Amino acid sequence: MKQSIKYGTTIIEYNLEYSDRKTLGIKVHPDSRVDVIAPIDSTNNKIKEKVKSKAHWILKQQDYFISFRPLTPPRKYISGETHLYLGKQYRLKIKQSREESVKLIDGNIIIETVNKSNKEKIKKQLNHWYESKAKKHLNEIFNKWISIYPSKKLKNPTLELQWMKKRWGSCDQNGKIKLNVELIKAPKTCVVYVIVHEICHLTYLNHSKDFYKLLDKNFPNWRKVKTRLEYFMA
Ligand SMILES: [Zn+2]
Repeated sequence: MKQSIKYGTTIIEYNLEYSDRKTLGIKVHPDSRVDVIAPIDSTNNKIKEKVKSKAHWILKQQDYFISFRPLTPPRKYISGETHLYLGKQYRLKIKQSREESVKLIDGNIIIETVNKSNKEKIKKQLNHWYESKAKKHLNEIFNKWISIYPSKKLKNPTLELQWMKKRWGSCDQNGKIKLNVELIKAPKTCVVYVIVHEICHLTYLNHSKDFYKLLDKNFPNWRKVKTRLEYFMA
């Protein structure tokens, strides 16, 4: 049974089931779904109250899961294979050439390479292209949002891009924000969400209640966007 509660400005949806047990159980899945299993004789109000008292923990769990990069299927780097860029699928076209280049033309990512069968080299060329695009776009988006929500504590927060295996981004106490280059594959609104999330860490380094209050204020729609990012990149 689909149910929901309101926690601050956030709606938490959950699937309610009854079972022959004494206490109420809550489970948060890696895809953000929430299961609540309640004792058969519990009233709806009691259940809602209990879920509300656990709301902070639920949000924390959901946020924990999104900080891990979902696995992407293995890539072959052959013509016809699709690759993501800013939320859209593009088809690879590998062309043998004396010069090397990567270009985005219409719906295609065209890779000119000296040896069509050298997959490692093609992968390197493509990743290099992603890095240059990330450098441009992620910096642009970061600069825009840091000017809207400047850090009250630090004068010059810095941005660094890196290929990361398990996280979309991070922020340390010196104001150094790191973003995963892989983000350049996600829709722009997802990129903005991750950046605003990290910018909020300039005020609260942890995932405290105050942190979420600030995130809710700066990016009210963030839960939906987070879920989209999760599904998109899975
Ligand atoms: Zn965080």
